[in-house]
Amino acid sequence: MTFDVHALRKDFPILERTLDGGTPLVYLDSGATTQKPLQVLDAERDFYLRHNAAAHRGAHQLAGEATEAYEQARDTVARFVGADAGEVVFTRNTTEGINLVAYALGNAGRLGPGDRIVVTEMEHHANLVPWQQLAERTGARLDWFGLTDDGWLDLSRADELLDERTRVLALSHQSNVLGTINPVRELADRAHAFGTLVVVDGAQSVPHRPVDVAELGADFLAFSGHKMLGPNGVGVLWGRADLLAGLPPFLTGGSMIEIVEMDRTTFLPPPQRFEAGVPMTSQAVGLAAAVGYLERLGMAEVAAYEDTLTARALQLLAEVPGVRIVGPTGLADRGSAVSFTVDGIHPHDVGQVLDERGVAVRVGHHCARPIVKRYGIPATTRASFYVYNTPDEVDALVEGVRAAQKYFGG
Ligand code: PMP
Repeated sequence: MTFDVHALRKDFPILERTLDGGTPLVYLDSGATTQKPLQVLDAERDFYLRHNAAAHRGAHQLAGEATEAYEQARDTVARFVGADAGEVVFTRNTTEGINLVAYALGNAGRLGPGDRIVVTEMEHHANLVPWQQLAERTGARLDWFGLTDDGWLDLSRADELLDERTRVLALSHQSNVLGTINPVRELADRAHAFGTLVVVDGAQSVPHRPVDVAELGADFLAFSGHKMLGPNGVGVLWGRADLLAGLPPFLTGGSMIEIVEMDRTTFLPPPQRFEAGVPMTSQAVGLAAAVGYLERLGMAEVAAYEDTLTARALQLLAEVPGVRIVGPTGLADRGSAVSFTVDGIHPHDVGQVLDERGVAVRVGHHCARPIVKRYGIPATTRASFYVYNTPDEVDALVEGVRAAQKYFGG
């Protein structure tokens, strides 16, 4: 580890606040959304204080500055994932990025009856429902990779699922519930042999480890700014240049048009073709600041640091009788979302005891209901770690779980 977490925490004033009753906040819900450092808040504020105007509109100086700030943000984000700026579309979030691809493929008439869309049983609803809907609209069939008992993709049906009828393989890089990191490269290579498009949900991987689109081997990658220290309301869809160029728009209106007649319109090339309306410029600027922050830490260091927290959580939770990890129990190919159940105590009760102690975790199905159904549990408690968490905070989680057991007589 090359960064000092205690020094870094000073960049996140919210982490110093206390909750009702004077309890210090222990924020272990970064899988849902992350806190924002001053550098990100300052970048957004500076944009509004000095440069605010509608990007890609108007001939005045401020509009030029706003456009430059927006396009610089695109360059920064592109570099972060090893992409060209022309392949980076700003969206609202991961959800919108995946919907964009699903709608554009549907509008392009790329799927029909007899075709197949393949997902996995561990998908967030954002990477499941849009494909269900596309299947419904086009008559294509939806099928999926199941899960093994210990939280991995069950690849035993790969030959059956990936063949010449499979038009789309959509899968998460890293599960927000199980923490599992999926073998995207291997599956993408197999899928590409049949001309299948590979869409990757990077909401939980891009914030936490080095991701390079060339190495990943996918065709599309979607992620969200708010899960990587950036602002709400901005996300990214990366797409291979030739594929983006061949796709029709998703949303239409201003900013994405070339020539509009009363009865027809021609569209700009990507990425503008997919960015209808006045761009979310301050958010993009904030996201670029977040990327800068992560780059200064180093993504390999971020991943290595999170591993130390995850290892500690997995080990200490394993020592608590009645606690079961839902997902891989070792560090190999897993990230820092740690879901668990506690025998005899509903996850919502665990969450409540933790909340009373200032420990913020998420309880429920985490927008991935098929996972809890697969494991026959009503919900899980999920702690998710990020760069600003400390080993002491992991200990506070585990002490809170023990306190819940005491309270509920477990
Ligand atoms: N996919 C995964 C794996 C996620 O964890 C999330 C957020 N919980 C999403 C997609 C959706 O992200 P957003 O709500 O920012 O669109």
